[in-house]
Amino acid sequence: MQTFTVKTTGRTDLHDITREVARAVEGTTVSEGACLVYVPHTTAGVTINENADPAVRVDIESALERLVPWSGPYRHSEGNAAAHVKASMMGFSAMVPISGGRLVLGTWQGIYLCEFDGPRTRKVHVRVLPSV
Ligand code: ZN
Repeated sequence: MQTFTVKTTGRTDLHDITREVARAVEGTTVSEGACLVYVPHTTAGVTINENADPAVRVDIESALERLVPWSGPYRHSEGNAAAHVKASMMGFSAMVPISGGRLVLGTWQGIYLCEFDGPRTRKVHVRVLPSV
């Protein structure tokens, strides 16, 4: 397993990690298989979405904020309940196929670490799984 860290900026930050994940895949000898991207946190997640128009990232962040506002009638005493909810909405892992030794991503797709309680330093684990 390979691990890299990401320094996020701001409370919410959809942070493009496509290059780091691609580098982890290229550092292996696996040419056919899949890549598991896993975030070991409870207030950050991972998702795949558009990397061409930066407005999409902003729209995702603001739509999630409308759905799950930071201030709400929450019970979690730490005060970051919204971050936990949003992280679960995004999920904590993404699986991307590998072919020809490279990630199979659509033209407009990027992989994002989703920070919801930043800024912090976050870990991302990458496990390259060869097909058998
Ligand atoms: Zn908490």
